[in-house]
Amino acid sequence: MSLDQILQRIRTAETNAGRASGSVKLIAVSKVQPNERVAEVLTQGHRCFGENRVQEAAGKWPEFRASFEGVDLHLIGPLQSNKVRQAFGLFDAIHSVDRPKLAQAIARIAQEEGHCPDVFLQVNTGEEDQKAGVPPAAADEFIAECRGLDLPIRGLMCIPPADEEPSLHFALLAKIAARNDLTGLSMGMSGDFESAIAQGATHVRVGSAIFGARTTT
Ligand SMILES: *Cc1c(COP(=O)(O)O)cnc(C)c1O
Repeated sequence: MSLDQILQRIRTAETNAGRASGSVKLIAVSKVQPNERVAEVLTQGHRCFGENRVQEAAGKWPEFRASFEGVDLHLIGPLQSNKVRQAFGLFDAIHSVDRPKLAQAIARIAQEEGHCPDVFLQVNTGEEDQKAGVPPAAADEFIAECRGLDLPIRGLMCIPPADEEPSLHFALLAKIAARNDLTGLSMGMSGDFESAIAQGATHVRVGSAIFGARTTT
C-alpha cells in the first residue's frame, strides 16, 4: 500500500473512533528495507520512522538526516544499557524501556548529555517469556520508578502475542496508562493499527503495509 493509503486509513480510523484528526502519529518502520524505498517515503514528505536495531539505524539514518530536514526517529526494538549513549545520538524517542537498569542508564546519560529522547515504557501484556517489557502487574511500580528518575515519559508500548486477539492487549495497555495519567500509547502494527486506534493508540508502528514484506526478521 502507498503511504497515502495508510495515512488515509489512519484518518478514517480516528474519525470512526471519535478522535481528532491528526491525533495518531504514523511511525513508518523502515527496518531491513532497502534505502531506496526509505528515501522514496522521505521524498513523499514523511518524516517519522522506526528502527528496531541501534546498529542498523547508525548505518543509515545519519545520512538520511543530512539530506532530509526534520527526521523524527524512534527506537522500537531492544536497547542494551551499553548502547544508550549511542542511541541518544540517533533517536528522538525510545519505545523499549523495559527494566530499571536501562531506565537508570538513560537517566544518567540524560544528565551528562543535557537532553533525553522521549521515553515509552514497554509492557509485556501477554506475559510472554520471549518478549521484552515489564509484566502488567509490575507496570505501576516501574512507571513510578521511572518518574522518580525524571525520565520524559510519553507513554506505554506493547507488542501483543501473535496468536491472540490484539484488541484485548491494547485495552489492557490503555487501562494501565489511564490509571497512571499517561496519555501516549505506542501500539498497533500493519495488521491491527485500526483496532489500536479504536483503543486509543497515539503512535502506530507500521512497516510491511507501507514498504512491502521484509525478506528477513
Ligand atoms: C517490525 C516491527 C513493527 C512493524 O511491523 P509490521 O507488521 O511490518 O507493521 C512494529 N513494531 C515493532 C516493535 C517491530 O519490531
